[in-house]
Amino acid sequence: MRAVVTLVLLLALAFAIGPFAQGGRKVYISVDMEGISGINGDDQTSAGQAEYARGRKLMVEDANAAIRGAFAGGATEVVVNDSHGGQRNLLPEDLDPRARLISHSFKRHGMVEGLDETFDSILFIGYHARAGAARGLFAHTGSGIVRDLQLNGVAVGEGGINAAMAAWYGVAVALVTGDDTAVEEVQAIVPGVKGVTVKRAINTRAVEMLPLAEARRLIEAGAKEAVAAAKKPAPVRKGPYRVTMQFRDVTIPEVMSAFQELARPAPDTLAFQRDAMPEAYRLIRVLYRYVNTN
Ligand SMILES: [Zn+2]
Repeated sequence: MRAVVTLVLLLALAFAIGPFAQGGRKVYISVDMEGISGINGDDQTSAGQAEYARGRKLMVEDANAAIRGAFAGGATEVVVNDSHGGQRNLLPEDLDPRARLISHSFKRHGMVEGLDETFDSILFIGYHARAGAARGLFAHTGSGIVRDLQLNGVAVGEGGINAAMAAWYGVAVALVTGDDTAVEEVQAIVPGVKGVTVKRAINTRAVEMLPLAEARRLIEAGAKEAVAAAKKPAPVRKGPYRVTMQFRDVTIPEVMSAFQELARPAPDTLAFQRDAMPEAYRLIRVLYRYVNTN
């Protein structure tokens, strides 16, 4: 009898603390800028430019819509990573006070800094199309110096690289927001990911935008639904990760070919491989961001 009582108590306890035993729902939100609702000019996305203050305000509104949605969808913890440019665009005083903020671009893992196995899902907010995409608003990968980036032979943009990082850590890519080309690009790589299109790219500079209130409402609803539905996957760790980076000119390949591990299959191209995706990510970031060829 005593054993039965103990068993019942243990079951009751396990039931009661069930959600906490799994650590709740931890959600990571990576916020870029070009695909934010209302962003329609590059003077809104660069610090010091005429409309930058407006751009930051638009960015935090989309971030807050995603945070509200994430909590409504069952998130118990939300971490936001500022993922654009100098990565100090989001003002903490304007951000939903329930979320923590990762800030500044001096990071190994850039747009997914701090992502690890403890997260259940990741949301890509304000994303844009990859370098070379014919029609995406401000299409680029990492920075403007990259012409094409391939991961295991497949051309990928920032969404694709970040999705590979999420897969490595076993985190579900649950939502992507941006223009139609950015959403379609991530949906082609991550089957079943929910997409919210906040604007239609007419070409790489012109867009047709949803009314702001509607775009934010869709982001909030999308985040809620995506977080509620997300199931944490098992990590996918299938190295080696082979990376080919083609640049817009030959200067970085010329300098970095000093490192014998970096192959130079063409004058404007570097190639390398790493067993772990985070290590590949780190080197990609070094190559487009931290090489001074002056
Ligand atoms: Zn970007």
